[in-house]
Amino acid sequence: MNSSNPKDNISVGSASTATNRKSVTVMGLGPMGQAMAGVFLESGYEVTVWNRTASKADELVAKGAIRASTVDEALAANELVILSLTDYDAMYAILEPSSANLSGKVLVNLSSDTPEKVREAAKWLADRGARHVTGGVQVPPSGIGKPESYTYYSGPREVFEAHRESLEILTGTDYRGEDPGLAMLYYQIQMDIFWTSMLSYLHALAVAKANGITAKQFLPYASATLSSLPQFVEFYTPRLDEGKHPGDVDRLAMGLASVEHIVHTTEDAGIDTTLPAAVLEIFKRGMENGHAGDSFTSLIEIFKNPVRS
Ligand code: NDP
Repeated sequence: MNSSNPKDNISVGSASTATNRKSVTVMGLGPMGQAMAGVFLESGYEVTVWNRTASKADELVAKGAIRASTVDEALAANELVILSLTDYDAMYAILEPSSANLSGKVLVNLSSDTPEKVREAAKWLADRGARHVTGGVQVPPSGIGKPESYTYYSGPREVFEAHRESLEILTGTDYRGEDPGLAMLYYQIQMDIFWTSMLSYLHALAVAKANGITAKQFLPYASATLSSLPQFVEFYTPRLDEGKHPGDVDRLAMGLASVEHIVHTTEDAGIDTTLPAAVLEIFKRGMENGHAGDSFTSLIEIFKNPVRS
């Protein structure tokens, strides 16, 4: 495993200047795959593309990409095959009928799914003589081709290293380790933070708007709160790793009262309370489990014991 600081392992490459033209296959041409194939083309790569809906390749072909008319053709074109699909089921849908042609291929799968599904897929491909590198892209299509963007990778290190230069055409790279599930795990835990944070922002904005405050007026305040979070995360990190939740800085009972105020403010504004009510429910469970005098970080113990329905 590399350093725990994600940025420590990020490295960035530049467009290929090799005299021998490099080549790659990109399968899956949603917004992501299109952006990826596009930057490979701009970097001078010979790019073979395939998509279930063939018309999505038209623009890329006009820019010089080679259209593969079948999956077999796309696989045959290159050792390095980038997959950018909705999920891993789509990978099986595409590759299962072409199983016999997977041997020797390196599949860099930049599709999203669960770490377990990724581990199964890596094994499935290994059983067919192919090697799998997992990727979790951390940026939207507009971030592809920008060196400050980055993607988590995991899988066999030597395979990743052999293709690192090509992958760095897409974004900076952050290799997380040999376990194929690791890149996806890092991706999903980042998404966990992203979606819950963005929904909390939207919820707060709905309450603000119900009180006549615009998104523009709210912007500096929302940004200030969001950008204060790293200080809290850093402060609590050693305590969380030690499993200690002293109530010297904050107490769960205080937090409960605070969340109740948010729920009531939301009700008064005529806004849906589902989100803060879920937070309140978790605080209440912490109280019931004897954490009233502990920090709110003790709620991690509640998360470790899911309620089974
Ligand atoms: P899209 O859902 O728009 O594109 C998905 C691609 O998968 C399309 O080419 C689609 O083909 C193909 N596909 C889906 N199901 C099948 C199937 N059963 N058989 C064959 N092909 C299939 O996704 P994006 O391009 O936006 O994203 C690609 C991946 O990147 C996703 O896993 C996403 O989570 C991840 N990602 C996306 C980001 C974003 O901002 N867009 C950011 C970070 C990661 P067809 O065109 O024929 O429908």
